[in-house]
Amino acid sequence: MEREAMEVDVAIVGAGPSGLSAAIRLAQLAAEAGRELSVCVLEKGSEVGAHILSGAVLEPRALDELIPDWKERGAPLNTPASDDRFLLLTASRAFRLPTPPPMHNDGNYIISLGNLCRWLKEQAEALGVQIFEGFAGAEILYDADGRVLGVATGDMGVGRDGQPKDTFTPGYELRARYTLFAEGCHGSLTKGLFARHDLRAEADPQTYAIGIKELWEVAPDRHSQGRVVHTIGWPLDNRTYGGSFLYHLEDNQVAVGYVVALDYRNPYLNPFEEFQRFKTHPAIRPTFEGGRRVAYGARALNEGGFQSIPTLVCPGAAIIGCAAGFLNVPKIKGTHNAMKTGMLAAEAVAAALAGTGAPVLDAYPAALKKSWVWDELYRVRNIRPAFRWGLWPGLAYSALDTFLLRGRAPWTFRHHPDHESLRPAGMATPIAYPKPDGVISFDRLSSVFISNTNHEEDQPGHLRLKDPGVPIDVNLALYDAPEQRYCPAGVYEIVRDAAGDNPRLQINAQNCVHCKTCDIKDPRQNINWVVPEGGGGPNYPNM
Ligand SMILES: Cc1cc2nc3c(=O)[nH]c(=O)nc-3n(C[C@H](O)[C@H](O)[C@H](O)COP(=O)(O)OP(=O)(O)OC[C@H]3O[C@@H](n4cnc5c(N)ncnc54)[C@H](O)[C@@H]3O)c2cc1C
Ligand code: SF4
Repeated sequence: MEREAMEVDVAIVGAGPSGLSAAIRLAQLAAEAGRELSVCVLEKGSEVGAHILSGAVLEPRALDELIPDWKERGAPLNTPASDDRFLLLTASRAFRLPTPPPMHNDGNYIISLGNLCRWLKEQAEALGVQIFEGFAGAEILYDADGRVLGVATGDMGVGRDGQPKDTFTPGYELRARYTLFAEGCHGSLTKGLFARHDLRAEADPQTYAIGIKELWEVAPDRHSQGRVVHTIGWPLDNRTYGGSFLYHLEDNQVAVGYVVALDYRNPYLNPFEEFQRFKTHPAIRPTFEGGRRVAYGARALNEGGFQSIPTLVCPGAAIIGCAAGFLNVPKIKGTHNAMKTGMLAAEAVAAALAGTGAPVLDAYPAALKKSWVWDELYRVRNIRPAFRWGLWPGLAYSALDTFLLRGRAPWTFRHHPDHESLRPAGMATPIAYPKPDGVISFDRLSSVFISNTNHEEDQPGHLRLKDPGVPIDVNLALYDAPEQRYCPAGVYEIVRDAAGDNPRLQINAQNCVHCKTCDIKDPRQNINWVVPEGGGGPNYPNM
């Protein structure tokens, strides 16, 4: 069936902080120049913010540049970060360590990134940007030479068998002079763009972590608005990189989360269970006693930093924000860089549209290299890879790099792909996790329930196996099916017949919270995450 098409100047895929900042900057520049400019943003969540999950402590540097009067305009930055704590946990004790300089939060704010995006959406719309919520970018449109011509949204109303249902509506084409990919960490279209134009050829592999988060309403006497707590150590072993965050927001809310790097080696490790176990620590548990868990979700984040920045432009397109990977790991912050790269790409697009209309936006990477984002990421580039040697050597190297070398070491440590790190199950120690108590710790299904995840059940699977034999012949045989454990939504299950034989992988795709971990960690890269019908997925209130 013929698809309808819409022509715009700029299409932006993803209404996160990077996409919305780009849209706002484009509209600001057009208004300043007195030019008409059509900017259209696609968002796969049912509404802007529905798929946004972050910590989050915001460094407001990019926001100050983008909308200097954000306070007067009522931006939801209500809680200045006022009290930083950095703890090393053992199984029974907590030791307060000096807060490393990158983790100082003076001048920063504890926020809900979902709510900030909702506010940015209002600012963008007031400037004339069109935002299509509940529409997923499902396909990149190219010309014969590979120039990006825009994107197409997915068809709606297709059954599991691939046949159109009564509700069938074809996707439409959003044809654009320039397209910005702002899908966030490990974007599904961005992945295709990397491959089509070989944009990762000069960069190290991207590396990742999974972040699992809950939002709690805690008892008032357990709350200290503005407090920022980070922990390292227990329950992770010293060879696994990760840690927790607890951010005390307004209204007795605490955002608590656990981040586990996806280069972990033990296939028995279960990031969700590590998080649940973490909350039971004697120094952590009291915060949540008498409180109520109100939201749950998970999302991958980039850890590759400077070494993993890909080529950012190809004819007709540019990649911004965490889709490219600008998170600063020692700071545990990516939003300011996502916003700034969106703004820089927008400026390059505006100049191109006003000038020659050259297909490749070279001005964007050139401006990036002169920006504070580049300098910031360069200085910390060796810190995350140093933790490959373990927690203590990593901490020692970080101190050396930060205080003595000041990020100017004449070497750069390299990255390795996360999916290659798993050891065979036979060489690993199984981990016995405690049963959830239903008060402080929970199981995955009740957790997914409060992520408000919803997918049309009768649609083609969005978790596609390249080879259907790999889950049993390789993953189960060699690694005891790690997808059963790393998926924070319990999507992957090995089921057997009544006699306990004939194992097969069951995929409960309707529970998927769009974290992208399976597409990253599957040892044979056999799982391809594609967008489901637009609007499907979690419905986070304020994550
Ligand atoms: C657990 C965790 C804690 C974090 N803590 C902090 C913190 O404290 N401070 C900080 O600064 N940063 C933090 N970060 C990082 C921060 O969240 C990211 O850097 C930031 O969200 C990146 O913005 P983005 O716009 O690039 O991508 P995202 O915020 O991921 O937004 C991408 C948007 O695009 C949409 N999208 C994706 N694909 C498509 C498609 N094909 N079609 C249509 N829409 C699509 C998504 O639904 C989403 O709305 C944290 C991240 C995590 C996971
Ligand atoms: S199926 Fe994949 S993307 Fe979905 S929640 Fe599980 S690991 Fe994340």
